[in-house]
Amino acid sequence: MYKQFKLLLAGLLLIPGSAFAADEIVVYSARNEQLIKPIFDAYEKATGTRIKFITDKAAPLLVRLKAEGKRTPADILLTVDAGNLWKAANDGVLQPINSKVLKNNIPAHLRDPANRWFGFSVRARTIVYSTKRVKPSELSTYEALGLPKWKGRLCLRTSKKVYNQSMVAMMIAHMGEKKTENIIRSWVNNLATKVFSNDTSLIKAIIAGQCDVGIVNTYYYGRLLRKQKSIPVALYWSNQRGRGVHVNVSGAGIVKYARHPQAAQKFLEWLSSSQAQNLFADLNMEYPANPKIAPHADVARWGKFKQDRINVSRAGQLQKQAVKLMDRAGYR
Ligand code: FE
Repeated sequence: MYKQFKLLLAGLLLIPGSAFAADEIVVYSARNEQLIKPIFDAYEKATGTRIKFITDKAAPLLVRLKAEGKRTPADILLTVDAGNLWKAANDGVLQPINSKVLKNNIPAHLRDPANRWFGFSVRARTIVYSTKRVKPSELSTYEALGLPKWKGRLCLRTSKKVYNQSMVAMMIAHMGEKKTENIIRSWVNNLATKVFSNDTSLIKAIIAGQCDVGIVNTYYYGRLLRKQKSIPVALYWSNQRGRGVHVNVSGAGIVKYARHPQAAQKFLEWLSSSQAQNLFADLNMEYPANPKIAPHADVARWGKFKQDRINVSRAGQLQKQAVKLMDRAGYR
């Protein structure tokens, strides 16, 4: 009797998707713990699926996935920046996902054309300016930050940061290398001070009067606002008469050798849904990738904007070119 029961149990565990097979997923995440743990907890609570995870920077996680190969315990790679997602797919560690739900919920420009990763939140990188020294009517495009009137008034973050590499890659995609290089040179010419290591210190430099304009991801502005309530800096939605604001994503894909690909897919589908989109985006004051979902009220207050609709995977494809170009143009 006992033996029979054991055999029955073993049989049930082998049936894929069986209610008796305990679902578990392992996530390798480059998004930090405080931004993802609440999401994993909510999913566990809603579905009973256990989520184990480790967090690290994108590059070491990718090295690890490649080294582990078929023996990897990872089901999902979750990371920021389309450049990183593109590289993971290009290095062959992700598998295509065939999901109507994901295709319905995530706009085409925010996912891999070969469906190996999907963006789950949108990060807008736009112009910030001093409300004391700049009128918004003086602003228009990223390109125009190279005009002589901004000489000694522009602050930029380092070109070593993937956010800027992706942004310049997209400029190459739109305008070609030559024009982009000229623009980057004109920016370098206008720099008020040496480049910053992060967006927050750039915004603080504008507050301190070191410079008047810069380019940042909006959630850094949001974080500062949460701490200080009112600051003499505002966001400007760039390139609204043209291609739109440069956007990037935080996203994820299923690992090629995932042990629980079906459970992993269910989790990603849930992430794209109305139940999870606000949880995922709001924790970091980003924008939901699913256009049917409204951003957090604090974020919505910054106004609506047109986003660049070019596929974010171009950021990865052109990243090397962008890095070389920025080096030639003297952007450190
Ligand atoms: Fe960031």
